[in-house]
Amino acid sequence: MKKTTRAVTFLGAMVVTASLILAQGPPAGQRGRGEGGAPAGGGVAIKPVPNKAGLYMITGAGGSTTVRVGSDSVIVVDTKNPGQANYDGVLAQIKTVTPLPVKYVVVTHVHQDHAGNVDLFVKGGATVYAHENMKKNWETYAAAAGKTPPNSLYTAPVTINAGGAQAVIQHFGAGHTSADSYVYFPDLKTVSTGDAFAGTALNCDYAQGGSIVAWAKSLDALLKLDFDTVIGGHTNDPLTRADVQAAQARFAKIVSVATDLVKKGTPQDQIVAQVTAADSTLNLGALLQQTQAANYAVRLPAFYTEIQALAK
Ligand SMILES: [Zn+2]
Repeated sequence: MKKTTRAVTFLGAMVVTASLILAQGPPAGQRGRGEGGAPAGGGVAIKPVPNKAGLYMITGAGGSTTVRVGSDSVIVVDTKNPGQANYDGVLAQIKTVTPLPVKYVVVTHVHQDHAGNVDLFVKGGATVYAHENMKKNWETYAAAAGKTPPNSLYTAPVTINAGGAQAVIQHFGAGHTSADSYVYFPDLKTVSTGDAFAGTALNCDYAQGGSIVAWAKSLDALLKLDFDTVIGGHTNDPLTRADVQAAQARFAKIVSVATDLVKKGTPQDQIVAQVTAADSTLNLGALLQQTQAANYAVRLPAFYTEIQALAK
């Protein structure tokens, strides 16, 4: 009941803010890979995750979609770029492995290549989960304007059960955005991460509440779970626990190196070059999307500000 009330309030807020969002035009931080760029145009294809019974991933048309088949229904994680064709494609691919209905959907974060078809899944009768922080993201992220938001927002971890197939949805703090959800399938020792662990090309969307400082901590929290397999936000094949460990170590080292540099007086316009000079494998420029001027203009000062706070 409480959830329903919240969802209704959320919807009301959307109606009020939709015209403002449209008037403002797209904010920085919504373009580019992993950020809700234009539909991929390619087809979608389902394939089983090796050695994980009942678990599949669907590639194409945006971020990776995870599919978990239970005895009476199906759990889906992430919904691809917006469009009836992509939604129909996902359902058609699921039908090739099970006739059961999609009962639960989780959207890992607001970017449209993951949250693009929330409206159609809601219309189709699914319970669509997202973290409570997505309410704010949905208000400021232009691609979401006018679209039906997730109908079930959570704060404390939620366990869902699709006829014996269990999934735990949880949030470990900010990272890629302020509303990253991780979906853990404990019996399969597998976690679906969205862009909180996209794969090799991670980026931090400060405009949507992302934080590299918090990301190091949230991946550390994720690593406390018992998993060996990861469905990343933009990978064609599953990844491993070691891949997440490497990403966590990278973020932690960026924070530590940058904090030392700021303490020594390194200015904002030198921080990326100096972190790179200290360790070229950290690739801070990529995390801040240095090659995309509109995103970099927002991300660089946001990163510098949070490092300055640590350097005090
Ligand atoms: Zn993303």
